[in-house]
Amino acid sequence: MDQIVLENVTKTFTTKALGTVTAVDRFNLKVKEGECFSFLGPSGCGKTTTLRMIAGFEDLSSGSIYLGGKAVSVKDKNIYVPPEDRGLGMVFQAFAVWPHMNIFDNVAFPLKVQKRPEAEIRERVALALKHCSLDGMEKVFPSDLSGGQQQRIALARAIVVNPKVMLLDEPLSNLDPQLRETMRFEIKKLQKEFGFTIIFVTHDQSEAMALSDRMLVMDMGNIQQTGTPLELYNNPKNRFVHSFLGQSNFTHVKIKGGKAYCQGDSSRVVWDAPAGTKDGEMLMATRPNTIDINRTEGFCTKIIKRVFRTDFVEYLVQVGDDVLRVQTPHRNLFSEGEECFLRFPSPMWYPAQEEGADEER
Ligand code: ATP
Repeated sequence: MDQIVLENVTKTFTTKALGTVTAVDRFNLKVKEGECFSFLGPSGCGKTTTLRMIAGFEDLSSGSIYLGGKAVSVKDKNIYVPPEDRGLGMVFQAFAVWPHMNIFDNVAFPLKVQKRPEAEIRERVALALKHCSLDGMEKVFPSDLSGGQQQRIALARAIVVNPKVMLLDEPLSNLDPQLRETMRFEIKKLQKEFGFTIIFVTHDQSEAMALSDRMLVMDMGNIQQTGTPLELYNNPKNRFVHSFLGQSNFTHVKIKGGKAYCQGDSSRVVWDAPAGTKDGEMLMATRPNTIDINRTEGFCTKIIKRVFRTDFVEYLVQVGDDVLRVQTPHRNLFSEGEECFLRFPSPMWYPAQEEGADEER
Protein backbone atom coordinates (compact mmCIF):
# COMPACT_ATOMS: atom_id res chain seq x y z
CA MET A 1 0.00 0.00 0.00
CA ASP A 2 1.10 3.59 -0.65
CA GLN A 3 1.49 5.26 2.74
CA ILE A 4 2.36 8.73 1.46
CA VAL A 5 1.06 10.16 -1.81
CA LEU A 6 1.77 13.61 -3.20
CA GLU A 7 -0.07 14.71 -6.33
CA ASN A 8 1.07 17.81 -8.21
CA VAL A 9 2.14 19.53 -5.01
CA THR A 10 3.40 23.05 -5.59
CA LYS A 11 4.54 25.66 -3.11
CA THR A 12 5.39 29.25 -3.93
CA PHE A 13 6.62 31.87 -1.49
CA THR A 14 6.32 35.57 -2.14
CA THR A 15 8.65 37.93 -0.34
CA LYS A 16 9.49 41.58 -0.86
CA ALA A 17 13.16 40.87 -1.40
CA LEU A 18 12.87 37.94 -3.84
CA GLY A 19 9.40 38.28 -5.33
CA THR A 20 7.74 34.91 -5.98
CA VAL A 21 9.89 31.80 -5.56
CA THR A 22 8.66 28.34 -6.55
CA ALA A 23 10.13 26.20 -3.77
CA VAL A 24 8.38 22.97 -4.86
CA ASP A 25 7.12 22.50 -8.40
CA ARG A 26 4.39 19.94 -9.28
CA PHE A 27 5.82 17.27 -7.03
CA ASN A 28 4.45 13.73 -7.54
CA LEU A 29 5.47 10.95 -5.19
CA LYS A 30 4.30 7.61 -3.81
CA VAL A 31 6.05 6.12 -0.79
CA LYS A 32 5.11 2.57 0.18
CA GLU A 33 4.24 1.45 3.68
CA GLY A 34 7.41 0.54 5.64
CA GLU A 35 9.77 2.13 3.13
CA CYS A 36 12.71 4.30 4.06
CA PHE A 37 12.66 7.02 1.44
CA SER A 38 15.19 9.87 1.21
CA PHE A 39 15.00 13.32 -0.31
CA LEU A 40 18.47 14.30 -1.47
CA GLY A 41 19.45 17.61 -3.02
CA PRO A 42 21.49 20.77 -2.59
CA SER A 43 20.64 23.51 -0.15
CA GLY A 44 17.49 25.44 -1.11
CA CYS A 45 16.13 22.80 -3.52
CA GLY A 46 12.86 22.42 -1.57
CA LYS A 47 13.42 19.33 0.60
CA THR A 48 12.35 20.87 3.91
CA THR A 49 9.39 22.70 2.37
CA THR A 50 8.10 19.39 0.97
CA LEU A 51 8.51 17.72 4.35
CA ARG A 52 6.76 20.60 6.13
CA MET A 53 3.82 20.28 3.73
CA ILE A 54 3.58 16.54 4.47
CA ALA A 55 3.69 17.36 8.19
CA GLY A 56 0.97 20.00 7.82
CA PHE A 57 3.16 22.91 8.96
CA GLU A 58 3.08 24.52 5.55
CA ASP A 59 0.05 25.24 3.40
CA LEU A 60 0.08 23.99 -0.23
CA SER A 61 -0.18 26.47 -3.11
CA SER A 62 -1.80 23.67 -5.13
CA GLY A 63 -2.02 19.89 -5.19
CA SER A 64 -2.98 17.12 -2.77
CA ILE A 65 -1.35 15.02 -0.04
CA TYR A 66 -2.70 11.67 1.21
CA LEU A 67 -1.43 9.73 4.23
CA GLY A 68 -2.51 6.11 4.65
CA GLY A 69 -5.16 6.64 1.95
CA LYS A 70 -6.69 9.63 3.75
CA ALA A 71 -6.66 13.16 2.27
CA VAL A 72 -4.77 15.42 4.69
CA SER A 73 -4.12 18.45 2.43
CA VAL A 74 -6.13 19.07 -0.71
CA LYS A 75 -5.90 22.67 -1.78
CA ASP A 76 -8.88 22.96 -4.11
CA LYS A 77 -11.22 21.14 -1.70
CA ASN A 78 -10.02 23.13 1.32
CA ILE A 79 -9.07 19.93 3.13
CA TYR A 80 -6.49 20.44 5.86
CA VAL A 81 -5.74 18.06 8.73
CA PRO A 82 -3.54 19.60 11.47
CA PRO A 83 -0.11 18.05 12.21
CA GLU A 84 -1.15 16.44 15.51
CA ASP A 85 -3.88 14.46 13.73
CA ARG A 86 -1.70 13.11 10.91
CA GLY A 87 -0.15 10.19 12.84
CA LEU A 88 3.39 11.45 12.37
CA GLY A 89 6.62 11.39 14.34
CA MET A 90 9.14 14.09 13.52
CA VAL A 91 12.80 14.72 14.24
CA PHE A 92 14.58 17.82 13.04
CA GLN A 93 18.15 18.95 12.66
CA ALA A 94 18.21 21.12 15.78
CA PHE A 95 17.44 18.51 18.42
CA ALA A 96 14.51 20.55 19.71
CA VAL A 97 14.49 18.89 23.09
CA TRP A 98 13.22 21.17 25.83
CA PRO A 99 16.11 22.06 28.16
CA HIS A 100 13.85 22.84 31.15
CA MET A 101 12.22 19.37 31.08
CA ASN A 102 13.83 16.12 32.13
CA ILE A 103 13.94 13.17 29.72
CA PHE A 104 10.67 11.70 30.96
CA ASP A 105 8.77 14.97 30.48
CA ASN A 106 10.34 15.59 27.08
CA VAL A 107 9.26 12.20 25.78
CA ALA A 108 5.86 12.25 27.53
CA PHE A 109 4.97 15.65 26.10
CA PRO A 110 3.10 14.54 22.93
CA LEU A 111 1.04 12.04 24.95
CA LYS A 112 0.17 14.72 27.51
CA VAL A 113 -1.01 16.95 24.65
CA GLN A 114 -3.23 14.03 23.56
CA LYS A 115 -4.50 13.84 27.20
CA ARG A 116 -3.64 10.15 27.55
CA PRO A 117 -4.16 8.51 30.99
CA GLU A 118 -1.16 8.71 33.37
CA ALA A 119 -0.58 4.96 33.49
CA GLU A 120 -0.54 4.66 29.70
CA ILE A 121 1.87 7.59 29.45
CA ARG A 122 4.27 5.95 31.94
CA GLU A 123 4.14 2.65 30.08
CA ARG A 124 4.65 4.10 26.62
CA VAL A 125 7.44 6.46 27.68
CA ALA A 126 9.24 3.56 29.37
CA LEU A 127 9.01 1.51 26.18
CA ALA A 128 10.21 4.36 23.95
CA LEU A 129 13.17 5.06 26.27
CA LYS A 130 14.09 1.39 26.29
CA HIS A 131 14.12 1.24 22.49
CA CYS A 132 16.34 4.32 22.38
CA SER A 133 18.74 3.01 25.07
CA LEU A 134 17.74 5.75 27.51
CA ASP A 135 16.03 3.61 30.16
CA GLY A 136 16.93 4.58 33.71
CA MET A 137 17.62 8.17 32.64
CA GLU A 138 14.10 9.56 33.08
CA LYS A 139 15.12 12.24 35.59
CA VAL A 140 18.21 13.47 33.72
CA PHE A 141 18.09 16.87 31.98
CA PRO A 142 19.17 17.21 28.33
CA SER A 143 22.03 19.61 29.18
CA ASP A 144 23.78 16.73 30.99
CA LEU A 145 23.78 14.57 27.86
CA SER A 146 25.90 14.23 24.73
CA GLY A 147 24.65 15.23 21.27
CA GLY A 148 23.89 11.62 20.39
CA GLN A 149 21.91 11.06 23.58
CA GLN A 150 19.95 14.27 23.01
CA GLN A 151 19.12 13.13 19.51
CA ARG A 152 17.89 9.86 21.01
CA ILE A 153 15.50 11.84 23.22
CA ALA A 154 14.11 13.45 20.08
CA LEU A 155 13.75 9.98 18.50
CA ALA A 156 12.06 8.58 21.62
CA ARG A 157 9.63 11.51 21.63
CA ALA A 158 8.85 10.83 17.98
CA ILE A 159 8.21 7.09 18.40
CA VAL A 160 6.20 7.40 21.62
CA VAL A 161 3.07 8.30 19.62
CA ASN A 162 3.35 5.07 17.58
CA PRO A 163 3.60 6.98 14.31
CA LYS A 164 2.76 5.41 10.98
CA VAL A 165 5.13 7.87 9.32
CA MET A 166 8.40 9.28 10.63
CA LEU A 167 9.65 12.53 9.10
CA LEU A 168 13.36 13.07 9.67
CA ASP A 169 14.88 16.37 8.54
CA GLU A 170 18.69 16.20 8.61
CA PRO A 171 18.42 14.62 12.07
CA LEU A 172 22.09 13.61 12.20
CA SER A 173 23.81 16.67 10.83
CA ASN A 174 24.85 18.02 14.24
CA LEU A 175 26.59 14.79 15.19
CA ASP A 176 30.19 13.71 14.59
CA PRO A 177 30.78 11.15 11.80
CA GLN A 178 31.08 8.12 14.08
CA LEU A 179 27.92 8.95 15.98
CA ARG A 180 26.08 9.57 12.70
CA GLU A 181 26.94 6.06 11.63
CA THR A 182 25.65 4.63 14.92
CA MET A 183 22.46 6.67 14.80
CA ARG A 184 21.76 5.58 11.20
CA PHE A 185 21.89 2.03 12.40
CA GLU A 186 19.62 2.83 15.35
CA ILE A 187 17.06 4.55 13.15
CA LYS A 188 16.91 1.49 10.87
CA LYS A 189 16.58 -0.75 13.92
CA LEU A 190 13.70 1.33 15.30
CA GLN A 191 12.03 1.23 11.91
CA LYS A 192 12.21 -2.56 11.89
CA GLU A 193 10.79 -2.79 15.40
CA PHE A 194 7.97 -0.27 14.93
CA GLY A 195 7.33 -0.72 11.20
CA PHE A 196 6.85 2.95 10.36
CA THR A 197 7.48 4.57 6.99
CA ILE A 198 10.38 7.03 6.92
CA ILE A 199 10.99 10.14 4.88
CA PHE A 200 14.55 11.20 5.46
CA VAL A 201 15.75 14.59 4.27
CA THR A 202 19.46 15.05 3.74
CA HIS A 203 22.02 16.67 1.51
CA ASP A 204 24.53 13.97 2.42
CA GLN A 205 24.71 11.47 -0.45
CA SER A 206 26.40 8.70 1.52
CA GLU A 207 23.76 8.94 4.24
CA ALA A 208 20.97 8.68 1.67
CA MET A 209 22.70 5.75 -0.04
CA ALA A 210 23.21 3.92 3.26
CA LEU A 211 19.72 4.37 4.67
CA SER A 212 17.25 4.37 1.82
CA ASP A 213 15.19 1.69 0.15
CA ARG A 214 14.41 4.32 -2.47
CA MET A 215 15.29 7.94 -2.82
CA LEU A 216 14.88 10.95 -5.04
CA VAL A 217 17.28 13.64 -6.11
CA MET A 218 15.79 17.08 -6.44
CA ASP A 219 16.98 20.42 -7.74
CA MET A 220 15.28 23.80 -7.69
CA GLY A 221 11.92 22.40 -6.59
CA ASN A 222 11.89 19.63 -9.21
CA ILE A 223 12.38 15.91 -8.88
CA GLN A 224 15.29 14.94 -11.11
CA GLN A 225 15.10 11.17 -10.60
CA THR A 226 13.52 8.60 -8.29
CA GLY A 227 14.76 5.05 -7.69
CA THR A 228 16.81 2.77 -5.50
CA PRO A 229 20.23 4.11 -4.45
CA LEU A 230 21.94 1.74 -6.89
CA GLU A 231 19.65 2.65 -9.79
CA LEU A 232 20.42 6.31 -9.28
CA TYR A 233 24.15 5.71 -8.88
CA ASN A 234 24.53 3.33 -11.82
CA ASN A 235 22.01 4.91 -14.21
CA PRO A 236 21.78 8.61 -13.45
CA LYS A 237 19.32 10.08 -15.88
CA ASN A 238 21.09 13.39 -16.28
CA ARG A 239 24.31 15.17 -15.51
CA PHE A 240 22.93 16.72 -12.32
CA VAL A 241 22.10 13.35 -10.76
CA HIS A 242 25.45 11.93 -11.93
CA SER A 243 27.33 14.75 -10.28
CA PHE A 244 25.25 14.66 -7.10
CA LEU A 245 25.77 10.97 -6.32
CA GLY A 246 29.37 9.85 -6.06
CA GLN A 247 32.31 11.43 -7.84
CA SER A 248 32.18 12.36 -11.50
CA ASN A 249 34.42 13.26 -14.43
CA PHE A 250 32.81 15.06 -17.35
CA THR A 251 34.80 14.95 -20.59
CA HIS A 252 33.80 17.20 -23.48
CA VAL A 253 33.90 15.22 -26.73
CA LYS A 254 32.82 15.57 -30.36
CA ILE A 255 30.94 12.61 -31.80
CA LYS A 256 31.68 11.75 -35.42
CA GLY A 257 30.76 8.50 -37.11
CA GLY A 258 30.20 6.64 -33.81
CA LYS A 259 33.51 7.73 -32.25
CA ALA A 260 34.05 10.25 -29.45
CA TYR A 261 36.91 12.62 -30.36
CA CYS A 262 38.86 14.85 -28.01
CA GLN A 263 37.67 18.39 -27.62
CA GLY A 264 40.76 20.50 -28.35
CA ASP A 265 42.49 17.70 -30.28
CA SER A 266 39.97 16.56 -32.85
CA SER A 267 42.20 13.92 -34.46
CA ARG A 268 42.25 11.72 -31.35
CA VAL A 269 39.57 9.19 -30.46
CA VAL A 270 38.83 8.94 -26.72
CA TRP A 271 36.31 6.12 -26.82
CA ASP A 272 33.48 4.59 -28.86
CA ALA A 273 30.16 6.42 -28.67
CA PRO A 274 27.04 4.31 -28.05
CA ALA A 275 25.44 2.92 -31.21
CA GLY A 276 23.15 5.40 -32.92
CA THR A 277 24.62 8.54 -31.28
CA LYS A 278 24.19 11.55 -33.57
CA ASP A 279 27.23 13.61 -34.57
CA GLY A 280 27.78 16.67 -32.37
CA GLU A 281 29.08 17.71 -28.96
CA MET A 282 28.50 15.47 -25.95
CA LEU A 283 29.69 14.96 -22.41
CA MET A 284 31.19 11.61 -21.50
CA ALA A 285 30.66 11.00 -17.77
CA THR A 286 32.79 8.55 -15.80
CA ARG A 287 33.37 7.60 -12.17
CA PRO A 288 37.05 8.04 -11.21
CA ASN A 289 37.17 4.49 -9.79
CA THR A 290 35.87 2.84 -12.98
CA ILE A 291 38.53 4.11 -15.39
CA ASP A 292 41.12 1.48 -16.32
CA ILE A 293 44.60 3.04 -16.24
CA ASN A 294 47.30 0.84 -17.79
CA ARG A 295 50.56 0.89 -19.77
CA THR A 296 49.47 -0.57 -23.10
CA GLU A 297 45.92 0.00 -24.28
CA GLY A 298 43.47 2.86 -24.73
CA PHE A 299 43.73 6.65 -24.87
CA CYS A 300 47.36 7.71 -24.46
CA THR A 301 48.10 10.57 -22.08
CA LYS A 302 50.38 11.52 -19.16
CA ILE A 303 50.05 11.65 -15.39
CA ILE A 304 49.83 15.31 -14.39
CA LYS A 305 49.67 14.70 -10.67
CA ARG A 306 49.57 11.77 -8.25
CA VAL A 307 47.96 12.04 -4.82
CA PHE A 308 47.98 9.27 -2.21
CA ARG A 309 44.66 8.86 -0.41
CA THR A 310 43.93 6.45 2.42
CA ASP A 311 42.27 3.70 0.39
CA PHE A 312 43.42 4.47 -3.15
CA VAL A 313 45.79 6.54 -5.24
CA GLU A 314 44.36 9.36 -7.34
CA TYR A 315 45.88 10.50 -10.64
CA LEU A 316 45.04 13.65 -12.55
CA VAL A 317 45.28 13.11 -16.31
CA GLN A 318 44.53 15.33 -19.31
CA VAL A 319 41.96 14.27 -21.91
CA GLY A 320 41.56 17.01 -24.50
CA ASP A 321 40.52 20.18 -22.68
CA ASP A 322 39.54 18.34 -19.50
CA VAL A 323 41.44 17.08 -16.49
CA LEU A 324 40.10 13.74 -15.23
CA ARG A 325 40.53 12.05 -11.89
CA VAL A 326 41.39 8.35 -11.89
CA GLN A 327 41.37 6.34 -8.67
CA THR A 328 43.00 2.92 -8.35
CA PRO A 329 44.38 0.65 -5.60
CA HIS A 330 47.94 1.27 -4.36
CA ARG A 331 49.70 -1.02 -6.81
CA ASN A 332 51.51 -0.81 -10.20
CA LEU A 333 52.01 2.86 -9.40
CA PHE A 334 52.55 5.49 -12.10
CA SER A 335 54.87 8.44 -11.54
CA GLU A 336 54.07 12.06 -12.26
CA GLY A 337 54.93 12.76 -15.92
CA GLU A 338 54.79 9.10 -16.91
CA GLU A 339 52.88 8.01 -20.02
CA CYS A 340 49.69 6.06 -19.37
CA PHE A 341 46.68 4.69 -21.26
CA LEU A 342 43.03 4.99 -20.28
CA ARG A 343 40.05 2.76 -20.97
CA PHE A 344 36.50 3.73 -20.05
CA PRO A 345 34.45 0.55 -19.52
CA SER A 346 31.09 2.12 -18.67
CA PRO A 347 30.74 5.80 -19.46
CA MET A 348 27.40 7.61 -19.43
CA TRP A 349 26.61 10.14 -22.15
CA TYR A 350 24.82 13.45 -21.73
CA PRO A 351 24.05 16.42 -23.97
CA ALA A 352 26.86 18.98 -23.80
CA GLN A 353 24.46 21.83 -23.06
CA GLU A 354 22.50 20.33 -20.19
CA GLU A 355 21.40 23.08 -17.83
CA GLY A 356 21.70 23.28 -14.06
CA ALA A 357 24.49 20.80 -13.51
CA ASP A 358 27.63 21.21 -11.46
CA GLU A 359 30.90 20.05 -12.93
CA GLU A 360 32.25 18.04 -10.05
CA ARG A 361 31.35 17.22 -6.52
P1 ATP B 1 18.42 23.17 3.07
O1 ATP B 1 19.09 21.88 2.68
O2 ATP B 1 19.37 24.33 3.06
O3 ATP B 1 17.60 23.08 4.31
P2 ATP B 1 16.06 22.79 1.38
O4 ATP B 1 16.34 21.96 0.21
O5 ATP B 1 15.41 22.15 2.54
O6 ATP B 1 17.40 23.54 1.85
P3 ATP B 1 13.90 24.69 1.51
O7 ATP B 1 14.22 25.13 2.90
O8 ATP B 1 12.74 23.84 1.31
O9 ATP B 1 15.19 24.02 0.85
O10 ATP B 1 13.75 26.01 0.61
C1 ATP B 1 13.37 25.97 -0.76
C2 ATP B 1 13.23 27.37 -1.29
O11 ATP B 1 12.13 28.01 -0.68
C3 ATP B 1 14.45 28.26 -1.02
O12 ATP B 1 14.62 29.10 -2.14
C4 ATP B 1 14.02 29.05 0.19
O13 ATP B 1 14.66 30.30 0.23
C5 ATP B 1 12.52 29.21 -0.03
N1 ATP B 1 11.78 29.34 1.23
C6 ATP B 1 11.64 28.35 2.15
N2 ATP B 1 10.86 28.78 3.18
C7 ATP B 1 10.52 30.07 2.89
C8 ATP B 1 9.73 31.08 3.56
N3 ATP B 1 9.13 30.81 4.72
N4 ATP B 1 9.60 32.26 2.95
C9 ATP B 1 10.18 32.51 1.76
N5 ATP B 1 10.94 31.63 1.07
C10 ATP B 1 11.10 30.42 1.63
